[in-house]
Amino acid sequence: MKEYNYDVAVIGGGPAGVCAALAAARSGVKVLIVEQYGVLGGMSTMGQVAPWMTFHDMNGVQVVKGIAQEIVNRLTERGMCRGHVRDTMGETWSVTPFDNEGLKLVLAEMCGEAGVSLLFHTFVFGAETEDGHITALKAANKDGEIRICAKEFIDASGDGDIFAMTGCSMEKGREGDHLMQPCTTNFSMYGVDFVKIRDFMLAHPEDFHDKTDMTAMREEGALPDCISGFFDEWNRGQKELDMHILRERILFFRGIRDDIATINTTRLTAVDCTDADSMSKAEVELRKQVYQVAELLKKYVPGFEKAEILGVAPVVGIREGRRLVGEYMLTGDDLRAARRFPDDIAVYGYPIDQHHPDGAGFTQSTVAAYGIPYRTLLPKEIDNLLVAGRCISCDREAQSSLRTTPGVMAIGEAAGAAAAEAIKAGVSLKEIDVPALQALLKSRGAYLD
Ligand SMILES: Cc1cc2nc3c(=O)[nH]c(=O)nc-3n(C[C@H](O)[C@H](O)[C@H](O)COP(=O)(O)OP(=O)(O)OC[C@H]3O[C@@H](n4cnc5c(N)ncnc54)[C@H](O)[C@@H]3O)c2cc1C
Repeated sequence: MKEYNYDVAVIGGGPAGVCAALAAARSGVKVLIVEQYGVLGGMSTMGQVAPWMTFHDMNGVQVVKGIAQEIVNRLTERGMCRGHVRDTMGETWSVTPFDNEGLKLVLAEMCGEAGVSLLFHTFVFGAETEDGHITALKAANKDGEIRICAKEFIDASGDGDIFAMTGCSMEKGREGDHLMQPCTTNFSMYGVDFVKIRDFMLAHPEDFHDKTDMTAMREEGALPDCISGFFDEWNRGQKELDMHILRERILFFRGIRDDIATINTTRLTAVDCTDADSMSKAEVELRKQVYQVAELLKKYVPGFEKAEILGVAPVVGIREGRRLVGEYMLTGDDLRAARRFPDDIAVYGYPIDQHHPDGAGFTQSTVAAYGIPYRTLLPKEIDNLLVAGRCISCDREAQSSLRTTPGVMAIGEAAGAAAAEAIKAGVSLKEIDVPALQALLKSRGAYLD
């Protein structure tokens, strides 16, 4: 059986996994990313999620820097990102529009430069453990079954596949019925007239989210970046086109070009990302919804008359899956208190943002910058596994904030650096010198103030 041997094996090449791999490799250890698809970026590429939100807290302080900012800089240099711009929706301080296609290229280049090995088209399905220690992960690809051996493993699968298969404590969904946030298939359209959209917004402010900030549109003629509303058009269109999507508004974003929009409006509830039957149904239903929403936009929404579909995410977008129950569970209360911890490895400020699991609408509340402690990355049961990304140890409220991309990138960077430090110091992940890790992250540009 083919066997791969590395210092650190990162499972999942999404934003958390890539940042983890880069951070570990830059510390001088041998790193492998194992990814089921043929591109890096996770939801930021395969899910056509854009823009990133948010690198700032609500006071405009940039709280995510480090590798995440480096990725933004790389993209911006190549015209693949517009940098951090104000959120016209008023929910966050900034959003960061970028090109999903360009990201695939840039992440692969960065991994190449850092010496990270990539094993694509490989799905990890099982683990061999001994006394709370992973000896190998089992994966499958065209070679058949293979073994992935490493000193340290990082679960950046988004869904917590590795901590689930190694028997770690975990939770999934809402207490009682275990429902999770709904799924969405994002898509993009070209030929969108954002000048017309801006003029309509200025003329009909009541048709948009009440926090929408139209100042720059009114005073400087700026184009909107985030549009949440078109309530009348959505309701009329749903009725007249006999559509039944559980959403009460249209949500879309201006892309890196002024005629491209990313549309985040399809929605399906009661999907379980850990159940392939459930996911198969979701793929079919949400693709149908994409074409329904595009038709509604063209018929009812000023600015979309001549727009056409540019791309549809190849896979359903998952907001929520399993959550680790690790050494510390970050909670919604911690976020509301803007709590900081002695072992913080990242700081974040995206709102608590829960799309309702069984209906239309969402609950959102702003938070001040809060800390994410190292202990939320540590499973209780396995000594050579760290968790990074949207499945770290937290409750559903905290997850609904830290799950967005800049947050998971910062968490990933810390996980990778921690794994490398453990190897270099010859200690277990639970024994690493956390102040030294924090100092290392800061020296590399991460924000931990
Ligand atoms: C519809 C939707 C809209 C969103 N909107 C925004 C937004 O506007 N702005 C924002 O910043 N964030 C947004 N998010 C959140 C953000 O995209 C995700 O939470 C984020 O990508 C999570 O990163 P991750 O690295 O933890 O996981 P993912 O991005 O899910 O990456 C996990 C990776 O692991 C791989 N993988 C999984 N299991 C295995 C396995 N067993 N073997 C091998 N590989 C595996 C996957 O293929 C994937 O590449 C949105 C999410 C969704 C679903």
